[in-house]
Parts: sequence; C-alpha cells; structure tokens
Amino acid sequence: MREVYLDYSATTPVKEEVLQEMLPYFTERFGNPSSLYSRGLEAKEALEHARAQVAHLIGADPKEIFFTGCGSEADNWAVFGTADALKSKGRHIITTKIEHHAMLHSCEFLEKNGFHVTYLEPEPDGTILPQKLEEAIREDTILISIMMVNNEVGTIEPVRELAAIAKKHGILFHSDAVQALGNIPVDVKEIGADMMSFSAHKIYGPKGVGALYIRKGVRISNYLHGGAQEAGRRAGTENLAEIVGFGKAAQLAEENLQTHAEHCRKLRDLLIQKVTAEIPDVFVNGSMEKRHPGNANITFKYIEGESILLLLDYKGISVSTGSACSSKSLEPSHVLTALGVPVEMVHGTVRFTTGDFTTEEDIEYTVDSLKEIVARLRELSPVDGKKGW
Ligand SMILES: *Cc1c(COP(=O)(O)O)cnc(C)c1O
Repeated sequence: MREVYLDYSATTPVKEEVLQEMLPYFTERFGNPSSLYSRGLEAKEALEHARAQVAHLIGADPKEIFFTGCGSEADNWAVFGTADALKSKGRHIITTKIEHHAMLHSCEFLEKNGFHVTYLEPEPDGTILPQKLEEAIREDTILISIMMVNNEVGTIEPVRELAAIAKKHGILFHSDAVQALGNIPVDVKEIGADMMSFSAHKIYGPKGVGALYIRKGVRISNYLHGGAQEAGRRAGTENLAEIVGFGKAAQLAEENLQTHAEHCRKLRDLLIQKVTAEIPDVFVNGSMEKRHPGNANITFKYIEGESILLLLDYKGISVSTGSACSSKSLEPSHVLTALGVPVEMVHGTVRFTTGDFTTEEDIEYTVDSLKEIVARLRELSPVDGKKGW
C-alpha cells in the first residue's frame, strides 16, 4: 500500500545525515562531556559544536543556548524559571488562548499556586494583535509568552512587535518557536526575545531533545538541580548523541531553509487548491498570508475529522485532527475554538502538514482519497447541508 505522511508538524523522520552524525556517540565516542581525560574532552567538543550549530541557526551566542529534554521542557522552564525568579516582583503572566499545551498547562499550574494569567484572544485568523497585549499589561506582569507560529492553524504571530511592547514595559518576553524553526527565519536578536523554545524532532532531528534560548543577562531560576552541566542551570549528563543530532539538523535546516520552505509551500498550496476546488463545503482555517509554509488546516462541513483521519489511515495516509497531543481526547481543539470556529465545524477539521519528503503524487493520492471518503461520510451523515447546521 502507498504510504503518505502529511503530519510533519507532529514530528519528522530523522534525516539520514543526522542519524550518521549521531551513531558514533552511542558507541565508540561514548564519553561523558564532564570527564577530564581525552574521551571526555572529545565529547565536550561535540557538545559545544552542536550548541554552536543551534546558536548559529537562530543568531544567538552559543552561551545563550541551553539543551533540554524536549520543546515542552523548554516551555516549562521559561514559565517556572521566570515565575520563581520574579515572584517577589509580581505574579501576573500574559499568554494566549492558542498556545501549545506545554505552555497552557504550565500556566494553569501556576494559577493554582497564586499566580494570575491573562489568556489573550486571537483574531479569527489566529493573529494576536499587539494592541491587545498592550491593554493586558499590569504593574505586576513579569512574563509575556506568545508563540511564533501556531502548531494547529499555522498562523505566524507578529513576535517582533509583541517583544517590543514587552521591552518597553520592562517585562520578559518568551516565544515558543518550535514550529517556526527551520520553516521561517528565526533571529532572536532581530525579534528581541528574552527566551525562545525549540525542539529537534520538528526539524528532522531526534525526539527527546530541545533547547531554551536565554538571552545573556536574563535571570531565571535553574531548572534541574545537580551537576554543573548546561552552566549549572540544567543538571544531568547530556544526551550527547541526540544533541549532536540536533546540531546537525540545525545546520541542515539553515542550509536548506529557502528550498525547504518553497517545497512545502508549493505542495501545501496544491493540496489547498485541489481540495477547495474538488470538494464542496470546505474551508481553510488560519491566516492565508502569514502562515507556516507546510500547514493546511481544513474544515470539512457535516462530518467528523476523526472519521476522515481513520479512513485516510486505511489508505496509508497520516494526518491529524487538532493537534497530535489532544487527538486522543474528544475535547474540541482549543485553538479552533478560540478562533471562533463553531464547535460542530471544529469536529470536522483535519490538519495536513507537508515536509521535505512530500511529493506531488502524495498530494494527488490524498486528494483523490479525500474526495471518496468525504462523499461516503456525508452520505452516512445524519446532518447534511440541506437540513442545515
Ligand atoms: C511539538 C511542539 C512542542 C513540544 O515539543 P516536544 O519536543 O514534543 O516536547 C511545543 N510547542 C509547539 C508549538 C510544538 O509544536
């Protein structure tokens, strides 16, 4: 059976070059970067090389890159590290209703512990307006966290303007840039962010490694207590093979940024164009102009996204409904709900994300399969267009 993967925002395969770079660090180069003999120094060198590769991709100084266990950990550290360091200054945090759960659930945890959180409402296309941020700022605001690219609908946020507002008020600005990395240019200095979160497995690197950029001079509390790894801020023997893989993936992402984005965009646009032309009663969510190059978030009216997902899976096609993390629950997507999509439409939504290995034939096969599946499901559907919803 044909296999088509259209869920690159959930995770990506490790590229062959990345894997080859990693392999020796499981076996012959197994040293601990903290050891003082040659084997340790060799490991330390590989660690710092990877740090420089990640730093280079985002225009940071290598000293500002702290490796973590995943993108979620980077988000958690930014929130809890700031809350702990600045709690005597204030206990108010501003974020948005459309963040990843790594951010939302961290904020909800803080709310149970005496902090106040304002969740900004997006515009119908997913954009967070700088003016709304300005209005939400209080005397006791200590952190503003707004993602750079939304993982469900692909909307790119005006982080430069948002960071400038934070700076004007002397408030720390963090951005979850997991979906931005490798897909659009990310330059921490140009954006003016104090902290940014990244993850390797969204850029053709391995799962289980991420990074938090912490601008020089920003004081947040350390995250894991123990040894002196990561400048004493995140203890634990480094996951060296994976960090090396992250570094290589970052280097490739930097070299291929333009061609990667163009490839993803071309096939994504083909998918959107064919689906909207050949299947009735569909609409695309999110901003059409400021959008992740691979993202197509499409609502198919009158039917369930989960049914589409399962029938596509029978045909060897992988897609997601809402975000992978919430797809096991039947809770309607918090992102689409915040965008004002009616609940029954939210349930009929599927996210397709193209990537480096997507081909035109993949898109054609997917659209042909969709036409058949959507028609079949609509025939069975108790609610149809004519009766109205
Ligand atoms: C995938 C993702 C994360 C989580 O990264 P992990 O490395 O899987 O923990 C966080 N934020 C966004 C926007 C993501 O897409």
